[in-house]
Amino acid sequence: MHIPFCVRKCVYCDFLSGPASDALRRDYLEALRRELACEARHYRAYEVETVFFGGGTPSILEAQELTELLAQLCSHYRIAGETEITLEANPGTLTPDKLACLRRAGINRLSIGLQSADDKELRLLGRIHTYAEFLQTYRWAREAGFDNINIDLISGLPGQTPADWRDTLEKVLRLHPEHISAYSLIVEEGTPLHRHLGEYPALPDEECDRQMYQETKRMLAVQGYERYEISNYARAGFACRHNRIYWQRGKRHTADYAGFGLGASSTVGSLRWKNTDDMARYLSLCGAGDTAALREEREALSERELMAEFMILGLRMMRGISEKEFCDTFGREPDAVYGAVLEKYEKCGLLARGGGRIFLTDAGIDVSNVVFADFLPD
Ligand code: SF4
Repeated sequence: MHIPFCVRKCVYCDFLSGPASDALRRDYLEALRRELACEARHYRAYEVETVFFGGGTPSILEAQELTELLAQLCSHYRIAGETEITLEANPGTLTPDKLACLRRAGINRLSIGLQSADDKELRLLGRIHTYAEFLQTYRWAREAGFDNINIDLISGLPGQTPADWRDTLEKVLRLHPEHISAYSLIVEEGTPLHRHLGEYPALPDEECDRQMYQETKRMLAVQGYERYEISNYARAGFACRHNRIYWQRGKRHTADYAGFGLGASSTVGSLRWKNTDDMARYLSLCGAGDTAALREEREALSERELMAEFMILGLRMMRGISEKEFCDTFGREPDAVYGAVLEKYEKCGLLARGGGRIFLTDAGIDVSNVVFADFLPD
């Protein structure tokens, strides 16, 4: 469920999000509730395994607003008993009372955007919080009973040295979160960071980037975190179910996902679509109950595209793809479809096999985008 609101825009962010008035927020939530109700008829056969409030900053909503959204979801959709329900949250938008309320409402996983433990870097990124404010939020979350917390971090920031990054990792590791997502900064076109890059301290060079990447792997492994995806690390039993389902495009319909809200993407079987990202249109179509018209960029994925997605998303996971599952899903062995590609990358040590699975080697992870490109249909 997409909540496209933030207190203010971070300089590196190209997500569909931004500040909003109270009136817009109210209208949006009403539209979202209508969309949930109208769309429910398409999902009667499904049981919801995971729910993800993403954004934007979903924690910007009042506890009651989030509780009502969740209640709306539960009243229209079949929710599995052990559903993982994640809320993306930013420090500066939560209080002890709000956290306690959200936990009581059934939210059982919190994904907190910290990005850096250095106030200078946080200011440079345009974040709304300091490290001390993050620490306070983290403690409140623990006190409210959240026992499954992810912390989002970004390396490769302007002016950042490997020692700075190590310092962020050390501080975060002292908190023992269940999950850490560590991405490297991508300077996206159209962002203030991209437009004014020359005014920022220099980005770390390739050698520094490599060092940070190696340090992340090493430090997190020493502390018992399993790297289960290229950029995601978890303590035993805390890999994010939502991500895993999304990345493991297994048998048809077991990995379907429905996105609700402005610009949200859905994939059901071989059909994929994205909701409109025009707020006025979103509000008016939901208001008129015409949620079918929200769907834009509709496409029916070909068998070849589904196979490519199975391989590319699956290879993001450290355990790679199951040859049997590929065969069960598509009726053919991976070698029958990708024989030449697999042979090429196995020969040069970027892919390996074992236990009926195909996975990227350490060297393969470093150049994963090059490997992935070879699975794409012509
Ligand atoms: S809080 Fe997240 S979604 Fe909002 S502007 Fe910053 S990076 Fe973007």
